[in-house]
Amino acid sequence: MNASVYLETFGCQMNVADSERANVRLQAAGYELSSSAEAADVIIFNTCSVRERAAHKVFTRIGEVRRQRIGREPIVGVMGCVAQLEGGSIFDASPSVSVVAGTRATDRLPELISRALKGEGRVIDLEERAGGEVWDVPATARTSKYVAFVPIIEGCNKFCTYCIVPYSRGREKSREASDIIAEINELRRHGYREIHLIGQNVNSYRPKTDSGLEGIKGATPFCRLLRAVAATGMERLKFTTSFPRDFHPDILAAIDEHENLCEWIHLPVQSGSDRVLRAMRRGHTASDYLKRIDAIRRARRNISVTSDIIVGFPGETAADFRETLKLVEEVGYDGLYIFKYSERPDTPAASLLDDVTREEKSARFMELETTQRNFQKKIYERYVGRELRVLVEGASSKSPSDKTGHSTCHKVVNFPGDGSMLGQVVNVRITVAKQNSLYGEVISAP
Ligand code: SF4
Repeated sequence: MNASVYLETFGCQMNVADSERANVRLQAAGYELSSSAEAADVIIFNTCSVRERAAHKVFTRIGEVRRQRIGREPIVGVMGCVAQLEGGSIFDASPSVSVVAGTRATDRLPELISRALKGEGRVIDLEERAGGEVWDVPATARTSKYVAFVPIIEGCNKFCTYCIVPYSRGREKSREASDIIAEINELRRHGYREIHLIGQNVNSYRPKTDSGLEGIKGATPFCRLLRAVAATGMERLKFTTSFPRDFHPDILAAIDEHENLCEWIHLPVQSGSDRVLRAMRRGHTASDYLKRIDAIRRARRNISVTSDIIVGFPGETAADFRETLKLVEEVGYDGLYIFKYSERPDTPAASLLDDVTREEKSARFMELETTQRNFQKKIYERYVGRELRVLVEGASSKSPSDKTGHSTCHKVVNFPGDGSMLGQVVNVRITVAKQNSLYGEVISAP
């Protein structure tokens, strides 16, 4: 009988995409995929190390699973960012782990598990993929049947001082456009309606060859890619994450030209203080950032903007924090992810004195959250009475008789609906604005 593998994913969309890729390789190698940690022969955790809490979570989960499985010890593996960074020390920290597979070893996971099943203790692989990247995931192996994440670039060269990604995922590697287009065409044939082009910094997309981009105009390779994927006819295309310094206005021109490029941009600012931005080594000032926002506001379409902010970066004073509040008020974000600074070992910021107290970080977090909540309420209320095109993705977690999905401006929209709507794009008239979602009624379905 073939061994069964349960794979649990933490972290970002990139990790979700890696897990999909790992599942494909596992099935091709003859493993059965299990949906339960209780029954599987092998349990793999695909980990995230971007925040301290995320990294700790995996060790807590390993402990939980072990307690459930006393007397039936599974093979336990750790893959992804924590594996890449911590390497062999994971075996000492958590002796039940027998496989450690780094961010570049996803394709070799089946072979690593097989060695562990044969009794080899402490199997580890942190190397680059031999023979180049293998990115593709068949449509049939995706987590969602309607929305797919398609990686276009992996790794990051920016080295923001607080960030672990350039170390855990390595330097930027872009995927050939012809590959990306072929994957999107395949997803379209399988009925997918929405694609997210993903990468830590999609704006610095730079493939080795022009394959797939021949004859396509654009100020940067990413702008050309946007026009090329729009031409596939895929119904809805979104992309994340954008980096302010590399955000070229031609991206907005492409969005204006192609209705299927959705009107949503995630543009992390991290701080509103130039002093802190310099210490973070972001390579932009608050006013550079606001110029980008101004260009977004001047676009033909009404584009939603979301962002990330870190509060309590080392040396951040009360005055610096006021600058952040001011910037948030000026921009008026549709959504904001706020994080309290936590030191990531071996990053340049880790050598700085983490001098903002825990209480102060919490107080700034709450103040910023309240500010954002007030602004967001006003933004969401503007949608009441309007119609949004929503891709129906599943049942609402709060009310089983309701369905849920996202609009093209990436708002969560809930509404009464039935199973026949799943995977369809429906027009919803918004009746209620909630804190983080909209509620409405379907006025036309296909
Ligand atoms: S751009 Fe900065 S924050 Fe984003 S992944 Fe790269 S180093 Fe990290």
